[in-house]
Amino acid sequence: MTATNMKPADLAPTYVRAISPYQPGKPISELAREMGLKEENIVKLASNENPLGMSPLARRAAAAALDEVGRYPDGNGFALKTALARRYGVGMNQIVLGNGSNDVLDLAARAFLAPGFSAVYAQHAFAVYPLATQAIGAEGIEVPARDYGHDLFAMLAAIGSGTRVVFVANPNNPTGTFLSGADLEGFLAEVPAQVVVVLDEAYNEYLPPEARYDSVAWLARFPNLVITRTFSKAYGLAGLRVGFALAHPEVADLMNRVRQPFNVSNVALAAAEAALGDEAFVERSRALNAKGMAQVVAGLEDLGLETIPSKGNFVTFRVGSAAAVNQSLLRQGVIVRPIGGYGMPEHLRVSIGLESENQRFLEALEHALEEAI
Ligand code: PMP
Repeated sequence: MTATNMKPADLAPTYVRAISPYQPGKPISELAREMGLKEENIVKLASNENPLGMSPLARRAAAAALDEVGRYPDGNGFALKTALARRYGVGMNQIVLGNGSNDVLDLAARAFLAPGFSAVYAQHAFAVYPLATQAIGAEGIEVPARDYGHDLFAMLAAIGSGTRVVFVANPNNPTGTFLSGADLEGFLAEVPAQVVVVLDEAYNEYLPPEARYDSVAWLARFPNLVITRTFSKAYGLAGLRVGFALAHPEVADLMNRVRQPFNVSNVALAAAEAALGDEAFVERSRALNAKGMAQVVAGLEDLGLETIPSKGNFVTFRVGSAAAVNQSLLRQGVIVRPIGGYGMPEHLRVSIGLESENQRFLEALEHALEEAI
C-alpha cells in the first residue's frame, strides 16, 4: 500500500478495525438536547446506577481529597488496599485496583490473552468481554445461553487448547441471571489450571442473603480465579471510576504489570475507601433496590410483559417492538437501555430507580405500548 492510497482507517490491525464500540446508556444532557426537554424532567434508568447517588461519607472524603489533586495519586493505592484487605481477609498483594471494574477486566485480558489465544464467554453476557478480547487480537468464543443465562457445562466444553480466559458474570448484565455458589464452585473445579476464570461480581452487593456465597474463600483453592468487584453500583461511585480484582498474589502481580501506574485518581481512592466503610449506605441501597425491583416487576407483569428474573439492580423485559417502544419512552423523557447489541432485539433493560422514577417509567411504558400497537 502506498502512502497516497492509504486511509487513516487502515492504520490499525484488522482486529481493532472490527471492533464495534461499547454503546453506553444515553446521557441525560444528550436527550435534553435532542428532544428539547428540560434535564430535570428526564428520568435515566439506563446504566444501572445507584439512584441514591453516593454515600455522604464518600462525598466528604472526595471533597477533602480535592486538596491533593495537584499531586499524583498513590499508584499502589495503599489506604484503599489496606481497607479492602481487611474487609475480605486477603493480602494486599492479592488486590488489583482499576479505573472501574471495566479497567480490571481489560487488565485480565491484557495479562492473559494474546493473538492466537482465546477467551470463552456466554451469549448475552456483558459486552466488555468480547471487546477486551478483540482489542488484544485474541479469539472470542461465545457460548449459547440457556434461559438467557450462562450454560456452565457448555462453557466448559468450549474451552480449547488455546483458551486462557473464561469470563463469567454473576449476576449477569443485561439479563440479571444468576448462578448459585455451588454451581460456580463445581465449575471452577473442572476448569483446567492454565485457564484464568474471571468472575465478574459487579452486582454482588445486591444479592439477597439467601443467594450469597463466599467466592473470596475459593481463592485459596483456585489460583486461576480472578474476582472482580466495583464501586460503581451499590456504592454509588460510577462517575469516579473505581473497581478492583482479588486474585492469587502471582496473578495479581501479572495484572498489575500491565496496569497504568496512576489508573485510579486520588479523589476516587479516597471516596472508595470511605464508601467501603459506609455499610449502612450499602444496606440502604440494597433494600431500596429490592423494593423497587418488586415494584417494577409487578408493574411490568400488570402490563402483560414477560420479565427475566434478575438478581441485579435492573430487569430485562420483552416488548417485541423494542425500538418503537424505546423511541416513545425517549420522547416522554425516560431513558432505558435497548439491548439489540446483545442479541436481544425484542427486549429492553430498565435500571431500578427511586420509587417515583420507577412509577414514571411504568406510566410512560404503558403509554408507549398503546402507541406501538
Ligand atoms: N461488569 C458488569 C457485569 C457490569 O454490568 C458493569 C457495568 N455496566 C461492569 C462490569 C463495569 O462497571 P464499572 O467499570 O463501572 O465498574
